[in-house]
Amino acid sequence: MIIDSHTHVEYKADGQKYSADEFVRAMDQGRIDKSVVLGGDQADAGRKPPWADPAVMGAATNFDDEDVARFCAEYPDRLIGFGSIHPDRYQPQRKVERAVREFGLKGIKLYPHSGFYPNDPRLTPVYEKCAELGVPVVIHTGIKAVRWQWMKYNRPIYVDDVATNFPELKVVMCHGGFPWVDEFLTVAYSNPNVWVDISFLDYIERTFKKAGLAEEVMQRLVALIGAERLLWGTEGPFMDLPLFGTHGPENYARSQEFLVRRFDFLNQEEKAAILGGNAARLLALDE
Ligand SMILES: [Zn+2]
Repeated sequence: MIIDSHTHVEYKADGQKYSADEFVRAMDQGRIDKSVVLGGDQADAGRKPPWADPAVMGAATNFDDEDVARFCAEYPDRLIGFGSIHPDRYQPQRKVERAVREFGLKGIKLYPHSGFYPNDPRLTPVYEKCAELGVPVVIHTGIKAVRWQWMKYNRPIYVDDVATNFPELKVVMCHGGFPWVDEFLTVAYSNPNVWVDISFLDYIERTFKKAGLAEEVMQRLVALIGAERLLWGTEGPFMDLPLFGTHGPENYARSQEFLVRRFDFLNQEEKAAILGGNAARLLALDE
């Protein structure tokens, strides 16, 4: 089973989000069985002046928990929704509870570059709630996705605080942490409750002219923590990020090849695990 563990639902040129039909048709074309659809709680467009300007926003950054649930409910066997939390929200743990219990979402995504550190004390009840509900927290690390975000919050070292302070919590750390790759690998190695999402390493390697980055990160990850906690993902069938470029469903095959299949330090079982088996285990899909 191929599971894309990291997707977003983009806006089309006409300003409308892709529909669940279009999204799943693209998955079919790319032979993807299931996709994790991540919510977005990043920017309050009305509150901070630059964020009110769509040209500065540059990409779709907000996707409400309830809307994610509605989107995924159209294809419950194919789409797995995650909610999202920003610690500025009033009692964010209540938003987690609602996302999981009421809307049936399977995890929580955090975007630190929207203005908070992962070890922000206001997130303590969020982590406690996620551990109690048994759902993973996915934390973006490394590069920022669009111009208005602040990269300093994305350092992997802050994820170490979360993993250490909440040993029962499953934490997924994304994108290889570039430009803090050593920090990323060290946090993954030191914390058995940290899982690693390798999505976007292809784009980072290309954008920053860092030839061999994906191979180096994968090889070191496998040597340090094995293949069992690695998760393949793509950002979705459609991506449009001004800083990094665009892609369509053809990226599914390209990404599998570049991030997983071409490596001879992985055997067939490990490749299958990274491309879907591990995500199924993380999300308890077979229970
Ligand atoms: Zn993403």
